[in-house]
Amino acid sequence: MNFYIITIFPKMITAYISESIIARAIKEKKIAVSFYNPRDFSKKKNKQIDDKPYSGGPGMVMMVDSIACAVKKIQQKIQRRKTKTKTKIIITSPSGKEFTNQYAEGILRKKYSDIIVICGRYEGIDARVKKIFKAEEVSIGNYILTGGEIPAMVIIDAITRRVPLVLGNSDSIEENRIASSEMYTRPEIYKFNNKKYQVPKILLSGDHKKIESWKQKRGK
Ligand code: SAH
Repeated sequence: MNFYIITIFPKMITAYISESIIARAIKEKKIAVSFYNPRDFSKKKNKQIDDKPYSGGPGMVMMVDSIACAVKKIQQKIQRRKTKTKTKIIITSPSGKEFTNQYAEGILRKKYSDIIVICGRYEGIDARVKKIFKAEEVSIGNYILTGGEIPAMVIIDAITRRVPLVLGNSDSIEENRIASSEMYTRPEIYKFNNKKYQVPKILLSGDHKKIESWKQKRGK
């Protein structure tokens, strides 16, 4: 799975993907992440990538050309592989389709090989980017962030942990197990401010049937 992230702030994302499970997935070539900065594709003086919106209103809008050129460059790179590929183009947007477990699962089921994620900034991206590339707008939740970089990280993370062999134990993927949102590890009794906090007795009982039904009750 190849991720191509179009962002003017790549360092925000490289910090995250260079640690832990995502870093290991990259090292083991289960996924690859590369960055394309719209500024590098700007034909304007001062490498300008945003401009005032038509119709007025506050803020700035990311211009179509530098993003369109970045997407085109990525598409050419994918084509050069000369193998069978399937590309999805995502525009991060607070008014897009909601990003869920099902969405992440669908990316793998539909066998996408290449995912392009476009990170907006300011008031968003010129709407013609969506039209040119038939891109899908995707929201990670009902709140407005300052940019698409956190959404891009969420998308990379949630998809990557579903790529086969990325998690040490495939049972860790929620759908494959009876998940409990209430977990404990040692010590059995924890004292804090003179109060004792005990692990539920049933988890120490060794009675697997009872433990499973306890977990199910506390599952999602
Ligand atoms: N005025 C715009 C807000 C832009 S927020 C509007 O109402 O749509 C700036 C950028 O941050 C967006 O272009 C998008 O890329 C990103 N963004 C903000 N919140 C997001 C969310 N909940 N999900 C996905 N992307 C988001």
